[in-house]
Amino acid sequence: MQIETPAQAPVIDGKAIAAEIRAQVAADVRELSQSGVTPGLAVVLVGDDPASQVYVRNKGRQTLEAGMRSFEHKLAAETSEDELLALVRRLNADHSVHGILVQMPLPKHINPDRVVFELDPAKDVDGLHPINAGRIVLGKPGLVPCTPQGCVILARHVLGEDLSGLDVVVIGRSILVGKPVSLLFQNANCTVTMAHSRTRDLALLCRRADILVAAVGRSELVRGSWIKPGATVIDVGINRIVGRDGRSRLVGDVAFEEARQVARAITPVPGGVGPMTIACLLLNTVQAARMITGAPRPS
Ligand code: NAP
Repeated sequence: MQIETPAQAPVIDGKAIAAEIRAQVAADVRELSQSGVTPGLAVVLVGDDPASQVYVRNKGRQTLEAGMRSFEHKLAAETSEDELLALVRRLNADHSVHGILVQMPLPKHINPDRVVFELDPAKDVDGLHPINAGRIVLGKPGLVPCTPQGCVILARHVLGEDLSGLDVVVIGRSILVGKPVSLLFQNANCTVTMAHSRTRDLALLCRRADILVAAVGRSELVRGSWIKPGATVIDVGINRIVGRDGRSRLVGDVAFEEARQVARAITPVPGGVGPMTIACLLLNTVQAARMITGAPRPS
């Protein structure tokens, strides 16, 4: 693939792309509703973490805007693990619920693995259950984690559907982002290298990448000189820093202005990968509703 470098890379507008996905989801929901199925998403929040409260509120609002049912379960921070597991089992059995998301992080006294393992894999719209993780490893269709799915959609938006043969470097190997996004790009026939905190000469490695995904959580770790001219840069990181003016703001894992001089296209923070996460959650809920009810794919 011939890759050209513009003077300053265009910014990939995650907000606009997410809005297109939500509009498509809303159309799918209307069509599904005609066959008697209204997709329902249950979101469970334990405790009063302020960031989680904002995420849950946004998820609920966007679920309703797409024409789906939204069920919010807000539980006290001292809720026991057994009580949470009992709620998950009730939601598993509830026919009006097609997707279940338990907001992470959970309070320290609750083992997140036990909660995720309790989810019905068919309703695991976060794609974290071992059955769904295994499907990605096997390259089989299933419910795919939302943020990684969003990264691949953004890359395809820039580079087209066929990503075959492209060199992808993913910095970060978390269960939530780094590992699944690496596997998704591999399933798209890319040549993927995973980097992490023990990687030697990260800068040299990054310079190979046609697509560079940064999912680290270190503000502006990736410098412009690390980026191959013409690369597509997907910045997953969300870091709050205090600027010279004393104001706090969000930055990514990539030094945006430097990278923009070299890249073919780059996601901003905020407004890049972030909005894609909820859009993909809605996509997954519709997919789960179809799988569970056997409703046909919209024409
Ligand atoms: P995480 O679980 O803390 O994983 C961070 C990864 O980065 C680890 O694999 C770690 O390596 C690696 N790492 C740390 N320092 C490094 C360094 N100096 N050089 C190379 N690799 C390094 O984080 P996460 O959950 O994947 O999240 C990553 C970032 O994405 C965070 O800023 C988070 O807020 C953001 N995020 C955004 C969204 C969204 O919707 N946009 C969603 C999820 C997460 P080791 O494995 O060796 O420790």
